[in-house]
Amino acid sequence: MRPFMYSLATDAPEAVRQATVPADAHVRAPVQLMGGGTTLLDLMKLDVMRPDAVIDITPLATARYGNIEASATELRLGALVRMSDAAEDHAVVTDYPVIAQSLGLAASQQLRNMARLGGNALQRTRCSYFRDPSYEQCNKRNPGSGCAAIDGFNRLHAVLGTSEHCIASYPGDFAQALIALDATVEVLGAGGARSIRFADLHRLPGSTPHIETSLAPGEMITAYVVPAGPWTRRSAYIKVRDRESYAFALASVAVALDMDGTMVRSARIALGGVATVPWRAAEAEALLAGKPLDEAAAHKAADAAFAGAKTHEHNAYKVPLGKATLVRALLTTQAMEL
Ligand code: SF4
Repeated sequence: MRPFMYSLATDAPEAVRQATVPADAHVRAPVQLMGGGTTLLDLMKLDVMRPDAVIDITPLATARYGNIEASATELRLGALVRMSDAAEDHAVVTDYPVIAQSLGLAASQQLRNMARLGGNALQRTRCSYFRDPSYEQCNKRNPGSGCAAIDGFNRLHAVLGTSEHCIASYPGDFAQALIALDATVEVLGAGGARSIRFADLHRLPGSTPHIETSLAPGEMITAYVVPAGPWTRRSAYIKVRDRESYAFALASVAVALDMDGTMVRSARIALGGVATVPWRAAEAEALLAGKPLDEAAAHKAADAAFAGAKTHEHNAYKVPLGKATLVRALLTTQAMEL
């Protein structure tokens, strides 16, 4: 690992001010804010990320940055809450099970005890070409160099939201729950605080896969706010992976349903493991709204969700796997006893 300056933050605006250094992508930023460090240190050891300075923001885990607050209208998750604490929080488990399950199925217990919610949504792809600097060709790590995965080994890569410049899949789980539940993100930057829709946080790769989020240099996530609704209790996260523990999703689905008997009032669906960003399946949601939910309807919704899929040599299996996971998630969520 390269030498770097390490400091502990004592004041959030000051930490943000120090981190506000012009950079054309987060991966290249010379000053990095660090929560649990479970992604950042990993990538620094691999020599993928090379910051000159790291500011540890975990001392800021007081008051609103480190709390979970549930009210009749919303759930507020501070960015410095540990994954394990959110996964086991009574209000989250009971009223927002899709969030608890997405966190509980991620990583390992040790990592969940370290990792914080703010950084979790910003974790980087597991594309092996991105994580190995001996490969020159990676537009995400080395803009303009090409993409080694498109003609390389792409079994774990995305089938939705890809571009000719990058097909890396977004690796997280929690993000799917947040986008399905229409969460917003509170951020703090040099210009002050602002809120953005979680759906606007991640950017499609397009021709600039090295720019992964809409955060400005130095901006720090301070909280996620999830609106309460009749759909949050009837919600679930289903994750399919190569092994049953400590593995990234090959396909995953976050679902929240508002039901009137067997009729769907509204459906909220997000897909993971198959797309370049946390992916809302709007076409599938539209097909289900106002209709009875049975196996045939679930299959139709799954077909709609993957209608735009683009596969490569080794990842075509993700289309039938993703569809089957979506069908299972819908029927499992419908059958929940509340
Ligand atoms: Fe890099 Fe994206 Fe291609 Fe992977 S898929 S090698 S991250 S450009």
